[in-house]
Amino acid sequence: MDIQEWEQRHTDAFYNVKRSLPYLDGMFVAYNSNIDVIKHLTDKDLRKLTELFDEAEIQKRVETYPREIKEPLDFMARLIISMREGKAAEIPTHTSSTHEWLKANLGFDYARMGGQAGIISNLLARLGLKKVVAYIPWLSEEQTEYFVASDNLLHPKVENGNVVLKPPREAFKPGIESKVNWIFEYSKGLEVTCNGNFTVPRDNRLIISSRPKWIRLDMDREVYEHLDTIFPIDGAMLSGYQMIKEEYEDGSTYKDYVLHAVKVIDKLKALNPQLRIHVELTSIQNRVIRKAILAEIVANHVHSLGLDTVEVANALNVLGHEELSYSVIRKEEYGITSLYHGAVQLLKDLSLERVHVHSLGYYICVLAKGHPLTLKEHRDALLFSSTLAAAKALTGDIESFESAAAGLEVPVSDKGIEDLENFKVYCVGKKLCTPDEFEYGYIYGADHNAVIIPTKVVEQPQSTVGIGDTISAGAFAAMLAEMKQKQAGK
Ligand code: ADP
Repeated sequence: MDIQEWEQRHTDAFYNVKRSLPYLDGMFVAYNSNIDVIKHLTDKDLRKLTELFDEAEIQKRVETYPREIKEPLDFMARLIISMREGKAAEIPTHTSSTHEWLKANLGFDYARMGGQAGIISNLLARLGLKKVVAYIPWLSEEQTEYFVASDNLLHPKVENGNVVLKPPREAFKPGIESKVNWIFEYSKGLEVTCNGNFTVPRDNRLIISSRPKWIRLDMDREVYEHLDTIFPIDGAMLSGYQMIKEEYEDGSTYKDYVLHAVKVIDKLKALNPQLRIHVELTSIQNRVIRKAILAEIVANHVHSLGLDTVEVANALNVLGHEELSYSVIRKEEYGITSLYHGAVQLLKDLSLERVHVHSLGYYICVLAKGHPLTLKEHRDALLFSSTLAAAKALTGDIESFESAAAGLEVPVSDKGIEDLENFKVYCVGKKLCTPDEFEYGYIYGADHNAVIIPTKVVEQPQSTVGIGDTISAGAFAAMLAEMKQKQAGK
């Protein structure tokens, strides 16, 4: 593959998408957002923390290995465990008291928007879409501070039984608690004195994720009844379904929430039959929920799915393709071939129009036959998202469409090109494409097509949080914009 050619294609695609985006009327983005609070732990912080507790008490709690943070001592015990092994951990907390305690006793370095829908809404608003309608069922006043303050980002608000679109800052639910996740980063070499001494063996992090019991992944009845207010929109990006629980204290179960989720999707489609719906997956620990999301919400209801390689493996696993799932995870020499087959399998099993898989160095997008866009147009959408990912990795965040052009300076990954060269041998051998077609990134299966591109990778990224969401949102919005432009005959 000619790397220079792919650099040029990235540049051309970026400006092609720039011309297409104004054709979009709007995008709906739901459901999850939270506040990520980041604290990098120093020697001083640790001394301060350990002084707040009795060392013997910490040790006793370490031995019970708390799986949930009910009080500050649980946090302290899990922090010690995580640091001693240098092992990442994510532990839930169901109350806001730990948040308050941490704020008062430790403080944080900075806070940012978290959650897929929050990240995606801000990105699309900054790219200058005409209208982005975000919907977060638990929008608190504090949470609204993390949304971009721009006229094109709105949120439904119930007013006297009606629904109006307002800037998030005017659309929050009064009195609602915020969902705040604490991310504690620590570095290799940190000396810790707590029941003896140890040295942290590697950089890692401990996350305390907030899971308030009252949170429901659902749409307010009034918003659902007046869903027409959010139109005109061309697409919806839905995420956060992983927050659905198997059972709730009030006797409801995941089945109720799956049903509601599908009703929202059906209604969106009824209000605009041309509307395209994308679901962004993330890791879902609970297999019952993972399967329900895929088989009952995604399958036959939505058009497009975005996910990373681990999620492809996890999805295949619950859909009964264990062997394929393992070969995706093993990532050996033929990892990319398995990934491609995995994406095709998901396209078929879930009756999708499009499956976009992102990996470090390349993206694969598998498409059902008969899609209104050409493979070149799909390729432009993917290339555009690769530039966005590079810009995000490079600068930490994308402030505007213009600032995303910084991503064009990042080189296409050599490793990505190499991985694709290996895959080319397979594709040509199986007559999925000619060598020339592969150079363009086009694959023609019997019952699907696919586009595959090498991508830009930042060697030393500022941050990698939310890059997956950025890739999926950028490519999906670009694809819809190109569809609208085509419909307009331009
Ligand atoms: P997250 O949920 O945090 O966004 P994902 O695993 O879903 O994480 O997505 C991460 C994706 O970001 C990878 O698949 C890769 O395509 C992209 N990515 C990660 N690091 C970089 C980097 N340094 N430069 C460019 N892209 C990156």
